[in-house]
Amino acid sequence: AAFESLSSRLQSVFSKLKGKGKVTESDVNDAMREVRLALLEADVNFKVVKDFITKVKEQAIGLEVSKSFTPGMVVVDIVNKELTELMGGTQAKLAKANKPPTVIMMAGLQGAGKTTTTGKLAKLLQKDNHKPLLVACDIYRPAAIKQLQVLGDSIAAPVFSMGDQVSPVQIAEEGLRHAKENGNDYVIIDTAGRLHIDEALMEELKQIHAVVKPDEVLLVVDAMTGQDAVNVAKSFHELLELTGVVLTKLDGDTRGGAALSVKSVTGCPIKFAAMGEKIDSLEPFHPERMASRILGMGDMLSLIEKAQAGIDADKAAEMERKMRTAEFTFDDFLDQMEQVRKLGPLDQIMDMLPGMGKMKGGMKDLKVDEKQLGRVEAIVRSMTKEEKSRPELLNHSRRKRVAAGSGATIVEVNRLIKQFDDMRRMMKQFSSMMGPKGPKGLKG
Ligand code: GDP
Repeated sequence: AAFESLSSRLQSVFSKLKGKGKVTESDVNDAMREVRLALLEADVNFKVVKDFITKVKEQAIGLEVSKSFTPGMVVVDIVNKELTELMGGTQAKLAKANKPPTVIMMAGLQGAGKTTTTGKLAKLLQKDNHKPLLVACDIYRPAAIKQLQVLGDSIAAPVFSMGDQVSPVQIAEEGLRHAKENGNDYVIIDTAGRLHIDEALMEELKQIHAVVKPDEVLLVVDAMTGQDAVNVAKSFHELLELTGVVLTKLDGDTRGGAALSVKSVTGCPIKFAAMGEKIDSLEPFHPERMASRILGMGDMLSLIEKAQAGIDADKAAEMERKMRTAEFTFDDFLDQMEQVRKLGPLDQIMDMLPGMGKMKGGMKDLKVDEKQLGRVEAIVRSMTKEEKSRPELLNHSRRKRVAAGSGATIVEVNRLIKQFDDMRRMMKQFSSMMGPKGPKGLKG
């Protein structure tokens, strides 16, 4: 999965600090040396790394901490905050025109995922009840128009095309007019890419830009290409004033360099992240969630948002609160598991759960596959209502009963309960450390 090696390296650096009652200057220096290496190996721009380390050190050395927190935890929190800042701090939203339609121009090198992303973005907009029009301005790549039409058809979004014998500038202009006449409130223009940045391409993009005056110019970059992606972004930005970046292929084993460098090198925020080939695999980019994902703190918010899609926000917030305060019961656990099944690849889901990234290694004996989930479910269903909400009631004889009832062995039951306890404890730990207002009790 994305960032896996960066993530596990950072986690091992911090696990050394976490248990310490007092973190000395040399502890911080040692840790930061390792963090620095980990970031460089993840292909993060070296100047970005340097600034990052300086900032973290400034805050971490000489830190005074209240009794309820170990300094190690606070260092992790500082790193978490700085990683978040590095990726833009808060979520950068899509611009909206004062008067519709909002015009979004897509740009990027060939193969970055531009056409695919155009379709995905339309799908996201449709989810918010918008009516996007897709405009096919890539007349050079042989199958690009067809590809856009197929994508459009698959989500019932209209695609405006004039074939490949008309200039892209004219297509863009007519496309915009078409949108106005047909009540489309968003226009997404798929432009041509090249294998490398060249003048002819830039000239054409500039002309399209001048004609449609886009509210957004989104550069699509392939996260797998690391610092190359950042260089591409820099060049495009100089020539075309981008308003945002879309990172694609974050489902691959990208090292993280692009995600962590692009904002500080170009000043352009990452607005969306694509994590797969499917049309619904584009998500708004949340720096704070990505940071905690990298640090192995899970990405509960994304997970819950996914799991609760279609359920009201209050309920999602309640679930999140429960997870954070460790009021999480076996009932919630089952609930979540049912949702998880609908979500897709378990590997991705596991990465989003707090602590799971790290636990994955140690969990080989409890391999997560569908069959296993079925067994876990059976065990939980054999518990009484009381036991589910107060797992501490599960003494030996109750466990034996649950085992018998579910056809599982007592070892399996014990293991599940232990896991559940660990999970609750971890949630509690993370929540006290990562409260919405940051580390409470700092210097208090
Ligand atoms: P374009 O030349 O920039 O328009 O690129 P395309 O949209 O045709 O995409 C190039 C290839 O990348 C296609 O095979 C896509 O399916 C694939 N692709 C695009 N986005 C993603 C992504 O987020 N994850 C993965 N795994 N593949 C992607």
